[in-house]
Amino acid sequence: MAAMDDGSDNGKRGARGDRAGARGHEAADSLGDEQLLRYSRHLLLDDIGIEGQRRLLASHALVIGAGGLGSPVALYLATAGVGRLTIVDDDTVDLTNLQRQVAHNLSRLGLPKTDSVRQTIAAINPDVQVRALRRRADAAALAQWVAEADVVLDCSDNFATRQAVNAACVRAGKPLVSGAAIGFDGQVSVYDRRPGLARESDSQRPCYACLFPPTATYEETACSTMGVFAPLVGIIGTVQAAEALKLLTGVGPSLAGRLLMLDARAMRWDEVLLARQEGCPVCGGTAGA
Ligand SMILES: [Zn+2]
Repeated sequence: MAAMDDGSDNGKRGARGDRAGARGHEAADSLGDEQLLRYSRHLLLDDIGIEGQRRLLASHALVIGAGGLGSPVALYLATAGVGRLTIVDDDTVDLTNLQRQVAHNLSRLGLPKTDSVRQTIAAINPDVQVRALRRRADAAALAQWVAEADVVLDCSDNFATRQAVNAACVRAGKPLVSGAAIGFDGQVSVYDRRPGLARESDSQRPCYACLFPPTATYEETACSTMGVFAPLVGIIGTVQAAEALKLLTGVGPSLAGRLLMLDARAMRWDEVLLARQEGCPVCGGTAGA
């Protein structure tokens, strides 16, 4: 399992120091020649370097959904060299998907989306092991998958799955990168209830259910009836991929405690600061844990 920073400035400085110290002992040949070339633009970044790249190669990301958001998420995690991806989706590729779901193509119509993404990734980066699971994400399965992952990306399109993924992440203490996109509107945040994080920041680190109580009733707006602007899912999905890579390598403070909202019509981003709800039915019992 890859070590991850808590995203705070203190944690970042500490991890930088650790990495700087470790770097001298780490031989560059821990990556093969081809990997040194493939990841050279990451190795040139001081924030990532060889150790960060090795962390990515040793990491395991769980991606829920292989559609509009899941496509850019899976592709960027794969090109960046996240070594293991578990991708969950119960749907098959349809012609209406190709307007925005860039991991699929015409030759895959009728194929499970998870198999299609796996084929696309295999053609780009053989370093990445993809576990393609064609099924719905129920609570029991999620508990197991989340426990095995270092970071979880919710790219699903319905409220029930979002709640189940969040509950599993809170229970297992794993960071969740959550995105949503409909019409011209998108939103993205990180919900990080890892128990090792600084206690002082606890009230600024809500879970998904602190914002969207599971008991509330929301009108489900499906892409099939609402439509979705093609590149919107690319914009939100790549932000999700970026946040996951940052969490895995310990780069910068994450989006935890901040919700980014995009109006792609005006191409305007708004940021809302988030707070934990004391009585949250999902993370309430873990306060100060
Ligand atoms: Zn909560």
